[in-house]
Amino acid sequence: MKTQIRTLPLTVTPLTCETLSGYIERLALRNKQSPGTLRRAITHSDNPTHTLARYTGREAHALRQALPELRPDDERDNDAWVRVILGHRSQRPVACSHCTAAAGAPPRVEVHAPRSRVLCRKHRRWIGGPYRRCDLAQQFSIREFPEVITAARRHHRSHRTFGVASTNDAFFAAIRAFDYWAHHGVLRNRAMTDIHRRLHALDVGIDVRFDDPLNHAACYPNTVKLTAIILHARYQLLQHGRDAQPEIITATVNEVALRVLSGIRPTGVGDPLHQALQRDNYDPDDPYCSWGDLSLANSTPPQ
Ligand SMILES: [Zn+2]
Repeated sequence: MKTQIRTLPLTVTPLTCETLSGYIERLALRNKQSPGTLRRAITHSDNPTHTLARYTGREAHALRQALPELRPDDERDNDAWVRVILGHRSQRPVACSHCTAAAGAPPRVEVHAPRSRVLCRKHRRWIGGPYRRCDLAQQFSIREFPEVITAARRHHRSHRTFGVASTNDAFFAAIRAFDYWAHHGVLRNRAMTDIHRRLHALDVGIDVRFDDPLNHAACYPNTVKLTAIILHARYQLLQHGRDAQPEIITATVNEVALRVLSGIRPTGVGDPLHQALQRDNYDPDDPYCSWGDLSLANSTPPQ
């Protein structure tokens, strides 16, 4: 016998890319129901999307659009954007608190996002993203840093040029390189004037911990530049093959020294930049890498 589902009296609007469990919890609490009972009733049903649609009185299509976990399996497999944002299961960022307030939601809402979603462009607030995750109290305004906002725009554009998964992967490599350089004192070098200027403007100075969100924001324009350089180098490696690898790596390290590290040249096999440029470390079949998005035959080399 099928359980009769009654639409709950109070509705809740899902936020874009909100987690399914977070949304069900908000819905349950608003209607004074047990979140666990409602979650089981929905997720253990034959068709969670339609069950949720009946509880909420909302269109199944609209729920699927807002809540990526409800996307069908074939869409998860074939859509790089959905695949990437659902890939960071343990690294879900907290949505911008100004966005949640505007939507009438509680301040703390977890969402799915690619690694590039480090700030809210609408409210100009740093939110950290899945890998650089900030707690709610750690979000801060970046209105005084137009270069950070410009970098976010460039970062977003590289999704279209290189594919979301490849950009995601290269940004991760760039973050790891910056963590390594910060840990080894490279970022304290006097030559790193742009990062130092932003750190002072954020009232922390160069003694900030390397994993502090303020440090991430101060380094972000440089991290985005490094991401683009890594993507470009990988594009060249794919085009020219293993024989060209030493030349491409040397040229890339020189470019990083010139454009990202104010003349400081990263060296050593343990350096994450060198590791990121090793073709052998890069598997095009890895679900996090999406060179399939990029038609090498028909595209022009990215600038
Ligand atoms: Zn916002």
